[in-house]
Amino acid sequence: MSTEPKSNKREILRDHVTVERYKALNYAISCEECSHFDAQTEHCTFGFPTLPHLKRTQIEDLNKDGWIAFCRAMEID
Ligand code: SF4
Repeated sequence: MSTEPKSNKREILRDHVTVERYKALNYAISCEECSHFDAQTEHCTFGFPTLPHLKRTQIEDLNKDGWIAFCRAMEID
């Protein structure tokens, strides 16, 4: 994984992952796998935006250009 170069704009942090590496690592990286996620409402108990970290968005980003948003506050029980 490499980290995207910083810009002056306030944007969500993304890391680059290849499809091969994503499949090989099989990490828990999406909101759906986090203790702070409410699956019914798709809300985060911290109030963070979940859309960039939802599994469907991450798969879409992976297939688009490989730059995926990883939540730094994720917790797994
Ligand atoms: S802490 Fe991060 S990964 Fe967990 S639900 Fe909130 S936004 Fe999603």
